[in-house]
Amino acid sequence: MSHDNDWRPATQAIRLGHQRTAEGEHSPPIFTTSSYVYESAAQAAARFSGDEPGNIYSRFTNPTVRTFEERLAALEGGERCVATASGMSAILATCMGLLQAGDHLVSSRSIFGSTVILFDKYLSRFGIETSYVPLSDLEAWERAIRPRTRMLFVETPSNPLMELGDIRALADLAHAHDCLLVVDNCFCTPILQRPLELGADVVVHSATKYIDGQGRCMGGAVVGDGKLVGEEVFGVLRTAGPTLSPFNAWVFLHGLETLAPRMKAHSHNADLLANWLENHPKVERVHYPGLPSHPQAELAARQMDLPGGMLAFEVAGGKEAAWKVIDAMKMISITANLGDVKSTVTHPATTTHGRLTPEQRAEAGISDGLIRISVGLEEVADIQADIARGLDLL
Ligand SMILES: *Cc1c(COP(=O)(O)O)cnc(C)c1O
Repeated sequence: MSHDNDWRPATQAIRLGHQRTAEGEHSPPIFTTSSYVYESAAQAAARFSGDEPGNIYSRFTNPTVRTFEERLAALEGGERCVATASGMSAILATCMGLLQAGDHLVSSRSIFGSTVILFDKYLSRFGIETSYVPLSDLEAWERAIRPRTRMLFVETPSNPLMELGDIRALADLAHAHDCLLVVDNCFCTPILQRPLELGADVVVHSATKYIDGQGRCMGGAVVGDGKLVGEEVFGVLRTAGPTLSPFNAWVFLHGLETLAPRMKAHSHNADLLANWLENHPKVERVHYPGLPSHPQAELAARQMDLPGGMLAFEVAGGKEAAWKVIDAMKMISITANLGDVKSTVTHPATTTHGRLTPEQRAEAGISDGLIRISVGLEEVADIQADIARGLDLL
């Protein structure tokens, strides 16, 4: 299918990148082939040297993966996207491509647990040191920057408390100090937040979450310009091989086709649920960027098109009460995955944040009564009824 540069991103997410084969298929096929055949020895040589564009080997060139990459790049407003085997390998490939021994990284404190382990246990072995700062404290970010700081890394909104980092302000700070700003945009997707438009240099994704949208496949992606992502991050992928499989790419590229309406529906349901929870007598506090009570509601309205599908709430009575509410649920799944059409619930203090000491949890604001919901696309009255069952027991 021909490219049309006039298409808007939502159209590109549905139409871009599929080169129809001689079979005339309407839906993009899965190319499960590890290598490609050339007309002649000279053509093989031209492909390998880069003189002729085209497929070489599926570790770094595959038509199904490329279709997914072109669509996600269009949605994020980036020049290039590199798809990876998981969200974690997207973050690893970004760090390997853009940092070197002796460099320093500043990250928001409340990021995905495995990202902390990647920075502290593994990157540190290769001479890259990480400092952590409170997400919304711009002065703390600035104080943490050293002469060898090369990257600021932020995840916004944070998990599970839905705090926000000001992407535009962080991009300005990064660039004033000759650093790159990398944004983990997993919770919002480009439908709700486009960090590159706000000045960020690189966006990373776990496609496992909303981009899949139905909890089936693992995958990730890095989006940015032709140099940082098209050369540096692509070079790591090409050489080290944390490659997205064609099957998973096929699932995700169909996920992108419905991403815009799904994100709007997730956000709509979460907004209704957050307002209902905030008025419930057994709920002490609700953390949701769409509520006027959110301490950064103004930033949320400025930076995000909609407040998204993730929320957390607190009940009195600590872990015992929180577990009672969770165990009374008959529909909502107790599972760590998020961004699924099915609503899911976690108790952060004993799962995702269970490895922290009680003091660290208190410092991070994760109370024992906190419950996180990834709001799905079931009828919102059924989600409410499932949560009400447990709240009524308190
Ligand atoms: C899940 C997640 C990741 C890691 O992605 P995987 O696909 O599980 O490797 C990174 N960041 C955030 C915010 C996530 O939710």
